[in-house]
Amino acid sequence: MRNWFAPRQTSTAGGSVRRSFKFLIRPTARQAAALTQCLEDHRQLYNAALEHRRTAYRKAGVTIRYGEQSAELKHIRADDPDGQARWSFSSQQATLRRLDKAFTAFFARVKAGRAPGFPRFKGKGRFDTVQWPKDGDGCRWDAQPGHPSATFVRLQGVGHVRVHRHRPLQGTVKTITVKREGDRWFVVLSCDDVLAEPLPATGAAVGIDLGVASLATTSDGEQLANPRHLTASADRLTTAQQALARKKRGSQRRRKAVARVAALHAKVRRQRLDHTHKAALALVRDYDVVVHEDLRIANMTRSASGTLSEPGRNVAQKSGLNRSILDAGWGVFLTILAHKAESAGRKLIAVNPANTSRACARCGHCAKENRVTQAEFACTACGHVAHADVNAAINILRTGLALRDAAEAA
Ligand SMILES: [Zn+2]
Repeated sequence: MRNWFAPRQTSTAGGSVRRSFKFLIRPTARQAAALTQCLEDHRQLYNAALEHRRTAYRKAGVTIRYGEQSAELKHIRADDPDGQARWSFSSQQATLRRLDKAFTAFFARVKAGRAPGFPRFKGKGRFDTVQWPKDGDGCRWDAQPGHPSATFVRLQGVGHVRVHRHRPLQGTVKTITVKREGDRWFVVLSCDDVLAEPLPATGAAVGIDLGVASLATTSDGEQLANPRHLTASADRLTTAQQALARKKRGSQRRRKAVARVAALHAKVRRQRLDHTHKAALALVRDYDVVVHEDLRIANMTRSASGTLSEPGRNVAQKSGLNRSILDAGWGVFLTILAHKAESAGRKLIAVNPANTSRACARCGHCAKENRVTQAEFACTACGHVAHADVNAAINILRTGLALRDAAEAA
């Protein structure tokens, strides 16, 4: 989640990339109980470390750093031999680092003068990932306890857990992360040195205008459906949520309804992600160059209607729209797009979205009167009429190509 708005360049030398692989794991009942306990202990560690920092900051204005908290791990483990000491030292460090990142982001927000939102405590069942930062340190990928054909991952305190390896793994395993999604468990492997697979050149370039109604509109006039509008599972989720609301607190039926809502949530999330992957793949397959708006430049917090390139000013709608912006998953989409473009040898260019929706794609005349409605563009200078999002996408493409040409000429 943290890196949504800043797709990272993960390229290493020689056409190889870093990529993650996610596999379902099948823990035994005993292992599932151990994994649940492992998450719970890491959650408590996270919350305790957060409490420590909050108290120091609020009472004395003192900032506690990762190094100090990490140095205390030794004592925490020594004092809790049947609890915290069961788990990997390195995974506990990773949990403290995760908190450190949350604080770094918090201080960055304070510095930027935005509503800070202090890092929050993680509620029971709300802490679903534990990371082992280095293969071989408290964990071992593809450990083989006498099963030459099956795949196992060994996790300290849990044992050898069976992995459903549905596709081949590439590169060198760096980090190992266990995730709980509803009642299923996954392992996510971050691998280095995965060879890029370039696609044949198409000779085509495209600009994309990110939107709410549709995920994106291309300069060729195509609209990519927003995965938010995948209806079938979402409808079932709504029904399940309504059913849940009618159940009595603490009842067996309520527990079942909660599980059903969680399972449907996970399903909707998977379907949306799958849809996003397909949309990104289609762009990468069809175009050598994809130009998009730079989300870091666009001031999302001020957007209150419309598209990214034409943010509105209606502050009252802000929270609702911001939620739907997050939901629309632009950041997720761009991150996936960046990974696919990189491994396919395609060029991705981010441009400043300023004026891309007010300028005429034909004559360049820039005026807010050009934008007749949310959907309609009509140039007051040359009379050019177009779908507003397509007009913006063309401007985005042009800006991106100009940037590229300038960079190549330099
Ligand atoms: Zn014009």
